[in-house]
This record gives sequence, C-alpha cells and structure tokens, in this order.
Amino acid sequence: MFSFTTITEYHKNLQINSYCVVDAVNFYLDNIQKNKHLNAFIEIYKEEALQKAALLDAQTNTGTPLKKLHGVVIAIKDVICYKNHSVTAASKILKDFKSLYTATALQFLIDEDAIIIGNCNCDEFAMGSTNENSTYGKVLNALDNTKVPGGSSGGSAVAVQADMCMLSLGSDTGGSVRQPADFCGIIGLKPGYGTISRYGLLAYASSFDQIGIFGKNIQDVGLLLEIMSKHDPMDSTMNPNVNLKLSNLKINDEKKYKIAYFRQALEHNANDKEIVTSIKSFINDIKNTGHNITEIDFDLLDFIVPAYYVLTTAEASSNLSRYDGVRFGHQSKEHAQNLNEFYLNNRSEGFGQEVKRRIMLGTFVLSAGYYDAFYSKAQQIRKLLIDKMDKVFTEYDAVIMPVSPCTAFNIGDNDKDPVAMYLADIYTVFANLTGIPAIAIPLFSHSNNMPFGIQILCNKEQELLLLQISQTLLHLKKGE
Ligand code: GLN
Repeated sequence: MFSFTTITEYHKNLQINSYCVVDAVNFYLDNIQKNKHLNAFIEIYKEEALQKAALLDAQTNTGTPLKKLHGVVIAIKDVICYKNHSVTAASKILKDFKSLYTATALQFLIDEDAIIIGNCNCDEFAMGSTNENSTYGKVLNALDNTKVPGGSSGGSAVAVQADMCMLSLGSDTGGSVRQPADFCGIIGLKPGYGTISRYGLLAYASSFDQIGIFGKNIQDVGLLLEIMSKHDPMDSTMNPNVNLKLSNLKINDEKKYKIAYFRQALEHNANDKEIVTSIKSFINDIKNTGHNITEIDFDLLDFIVPAYYVLTTAEASSNLSRYDGVRFGHQSKEHAQNLNEFYLNNRSEGFGQEVKRRIMLGTFVLSAGYYDAFYSKAQQIRKLLIDKMDKVFTEYDAVIMPVSPCTAFNIGDNDKDPVAMYLADIYTVFANLTGIPAIAIPLFSHSNNMPFGIQILCNKEQELLLLQISQTLLHLKKGE
C-alpha cells in the first residue's frame, strides 16, 4: 500500500519494489477525486501524469539511477506557466489561455523527473488572503470546511494538506505561501528575492514576487529549493550569489542560535490571545534549550501594511495593463465606440472586484499629484525596513514572529471589510518588503481546532540557515 513520508523514503520503497510510481500517482488521483468538494484543483493532468509514471517505472526496472525528483508528485499554482497547459491566474480575463513556454523553476523540477499532477486554484492574480477571489470559486480548508485555507495560494496549500500531491508550488508576494501554510498546518517557504527565477511566473508585483514551496517536511522543501534555485539568465533580478547546496544543510540540534523577536509584534492588539500565549511559551522553551533569544524593538510595524499595499498595487497597475483584450485576455462582445471603450469593456468584464480595486489604487498612488505623497513615501519606508534588518542580522541569526494574527478566517469574512483583510497581512508582507527568506512552520493547535505556527526570517542568501533553524525548532516542539 502506498503512503508518503519523505522523498528519500519514497525512493527507497521504489527501489525495493514496495510499490511503483504509477501506484503513487493513482493514490493522489484518487485523493483528488475524493476531495473534489475542496475545489483545490483547476485542472488535473491525469493522462500525462500516468504516462510519465509508467515511463519512470520502466526506467526503475532497468536499474538506471533515480533522478532527484523521480516520480515526485507536484501540483502548481495557476500563475506558473507550463507549456501547452492553461494558465489563468484564476481570472476570467485569461480564460482558455495556454502557456507558450514553461517557467524556468518548473522546468528544473521536470528535468529531475517530477510529475506535475495539476494546477491549483488561487485568488485572482494572487491578490487575496482567503482564496475567495477566484473565478473558479472558493477553496475550502480540509480541516474545517467552514474555514478558508488562506490565500492567495490556497489551492496549492490544500493540495498538500489533504494529500493530493507530495509537494506544491505557490507564489508569495506578501505572504501567499506562508499564510495558507499556517492556516492549513503545513510548511510554507518563501525564498529570498532573487533566489528562484520568476521567468514564467505571472507577475503581480515584480519587486516582491517569489515562487514558494509547500510541503510537510523540511528536507523535501529544501530539496525543491535547491533544484529550483539555479541561475536563470531569463531573470535579470536573480541574485548571482545564490548557490544552495542541500548537502550543506547540517541539521544539528546541539547548535545554539541567536534569535530575536519584535516586542511590538507580540504586543499588537490585532493578535489572537492564544496565539500570543503559545508563542511566548515556545520562546521560553527555546531559551531553556540554551539558545539565545532576545526581545528587540521594532517601531515601524504599523507602517508595513500601508507601504506594502501602496507599492504592490502600483506595480500591479503597471503589470496588469497588458491584459487589454488585444495582446492578452478576454474580449468583450459589447460594441465599442472607440479604443478606450474597447479596453474598458474588456477589462471591466475580465477582472474581478479585488483586482479592479488594486489596479485603481495603484494607478492613483502613481498619479502625478499623489506620487510623492504615497509612492515615494512607501519606498522610503521600504528602505528603512531593509536598513533595520541589515542591522538586526549583524547580531542575530534569525527573527521569529507570528505568521498571522489569527487562525483561518471563516468563509465570507473577506466580503465584509477588505481593509481588515489587508491588515491581517501584517507579519508576512515584511519579508517581501525587505527581500529576505521566511518560512512558516506548523507547531500548535488552537482551541478552535485550527493549526498555527511561527514564522522564521533569516538574512538574504541564508535559506540553508533558515531551514536548519526550522528543523531544530520543529524537533524542539516534537520533543516536548
Ligand atoms: N494577502 C496578500 C495580498 O493580498 C498576499 C498576496 C500574495 O502574496 N500574493 O496582497
């Protein structure tokens, strides 16, 4: 009987013929079928996944050494291009659009013999925190169907949460991997800016976007990161210094780290009390095991959500201008009197409400009379945050903070107050503003039965350290 723990175990079992790759793919296809009501997938690549699995099985039998992701079943968010497969960013404006090429990061996975099982539902153009802003309808949290899975990569998170694939890819512009991972009780990693190529990732806010990884254990997440973080000449914003070698990942629970946490982040009045109590008691556990953990001041906390929403909407208004119904996108059937009306009809029909709100907000903050008051100010805040973190990381290995001020929202909360939703991004947008890597690891269960964990942040180019500390803290919690 097939069951999955880690890629290493999976490969061992394949080699002793406990099961084959076709069994694994069938297991996931069955689970996808059983969990259809969760609405995590948009399309399932059943035939091609089975075909590739059979091909790989034939190879295993000839004794050829297995590639790193031999038969590893992966799902992707509907913002990642996969040649000849549809990619729509869960938007009506891209209905029926097929990718003309494959994203570099995804190609790296395919080159290692990964099997792509389907593409996952998400918030339209990755804008949202609940996965309710999708033209394909909302995604449900598998642990409690009255709750959202988080967003915007909600489908990718649920696909891993409910065992519909081994690992999945999302995108994280302001928390869209870490927050849904937290709401679903799994691991979600956002690499540092420039670590993974963005070529073939549909852009929301280009100076923030990164492809991220969902998984259930650190080793597997690290392996995907290593494979995807190779240099790509098609993305000029890639960091040339990135050279992650998983073999350098030394999980050593004896090693003691210097960790900081922001006083203001734990005292913020938006926080759920139980989340604060659990994190505080975990901080004590960390201290008691000999790590150096220090409270530090961070007085810029209330500026980060406004800065994020000014800058990302500005970038979105520019990035999404390509969807005009001529070069890309839905074309209205309404008769237009002139070019302006033609664009207006196409875009008004094609985009959903949240995307329209952000395009208008972004256009506004970039407009001549308001540029200095909003856009320039937000850039200044971004610089202050980067400087602050540069200083913090001269003294500390990592910073920890909540992932979200609360556990998974109830379905429908999103409609009530968009600004309240934006404010809930307070702890995740920080890593995107500063370009540093961050991870959400699951640690606790709330009395409302929903999971939550902590977020760990490290300096640029320190993804391996981030993974090491994550593993140490996960072990610490387990060993309690
Ligand atoms: N919730 C954030 C937003 O709505 C995060 C989006 C993201 O990371 N793609 O902007």
